[in-house]
Amino acid sequence: MQDRFKGILLTRDENKVMSVNVTELGLDDLMEGDVVVEVEWTTINYKDGLAITGKGPVVRRWPMVPGIDCAGTVVSSENERFKAGDKVILNGFGVGEVHTGAYAAYARMKGDWLIPMPQGMDGRSAMAIGTAGYTAMLSVMALERHGITPGRGPVVVTGANGGVGTVAIALLGKLGYEVIASTGRTEEADFLKSLGASEVIHRDELSSPAKPLAKERWAGAIDAVGSHALANVLSMTSYGGAVTACGLAQGMDLPTSVAPFILRGVSLLGIDSVMAPLALRQEAWSRLVTDLDMDKLEALSSEIGFDGIIDAAHQIIDGKVRGRVVVDMKKPNA
Ligand code: NDP
Repeated sequence: MQDRFKGILLTRDENKVMSVNVTELGLDDLMEGDVVVEVEWTTINYKDGLAITGKGPVVRRWPMVPGIDCAGTVVSSENERFKAGDKVILNGFGVGEVHTGAYAAYARMKGDWLIPMPQGMDGRSAMAIGTAGYTAMLSVMALERHGITPGRGPVVVTGANGGVGTVAIALLGKLGYEVIASTGRTEEADFLKSLGASEVIHRDELSSPAKPLAKERWAGAIDAVGSHALANVLSMTSYGGAVTACGLAQGMDLPTSVAPFILRGVSLLGIDSVMAPLALRQEAWSRLVTDLDMDKLEALSSEIGFDGIIDAAHQIIDGKVRGRVVVDMKKPNA
């Protein structure tokens, strides 16, 4: 392992003004942990965008190496679950938020946070999926647990062109659901249909203040945007249906009423990927091997190198990224 290696460091001055620098780091700059991983692949999630642009209070310890997930090879381990040479995935547990993260050649963390690379998956595909895709899988599993089968009716996916949205569409399509994609980029309708959507609607249909109840349009929903969109989705969910909520791309508020819950028995299912228990994580990653079409994953992913991370973080916050961005840490240039 190299003594000095490249990484991105977020620092804050006495006036709380943040700086983003590509710099040289050593192992001493990384927080404590019983496993050191060489980061081979990482990715850009919305949360990474919030951290690097400073647009959201994601980073809660300074200085911080951002990057909430990675795939790589164990370099050294004092944890009995892992040994040097093991291929692993890390996502969540506050990495890149309160514990130094993935945007450096090496990461040091608790072995208890790591997942062995599932059979049938490699580092590149794991990070093409990343936290966003794994959250899409958690959302699909939550709908299933609630009994939302393909026969119950369509499922709407908001933020359809985003990371959670594109993977959710590909998963639902493969599992036989009729998928309605809601997007601000209707010019991408052919792309969304190629992933598995059967209908594409403009997000403006869901952006005005919601009525307490509206015409029933879907049995289930995967929402990544919150605010009015989630309120409208709830008001249009059919009797006994379920809606998962994982994101806030439109806003953190939820201007709704109790009407969908008490008059239609609709359920709102919260999805948290960060602290999800290990068994649920392992189930989600294994399901991704079987339930996600790898050709579709390739179609919804683009690849950059380490030097492209900061630009891509700005683009994801500006809503300009389509699908998922995977980062090859060995490739310097975007
Ligand atoms: P992306 O930026 O890739 O996708 C978000 C999508 O939301 C955009 O592509 C866009 O889709 C839509 N969107 C953006 N701005 C607005 C707006 N103002 N109004 C309505 N729609 C908008 O992000 P991710 O898919 O990676 O993440 C989505 C959300 O889920 C984020 O809030 C993220 O923090 C959250 N998340 C939460 C997790 C959890 O554990 N709970 C884990 C992972 C993500 P389009 O162009 O199609 O309209």
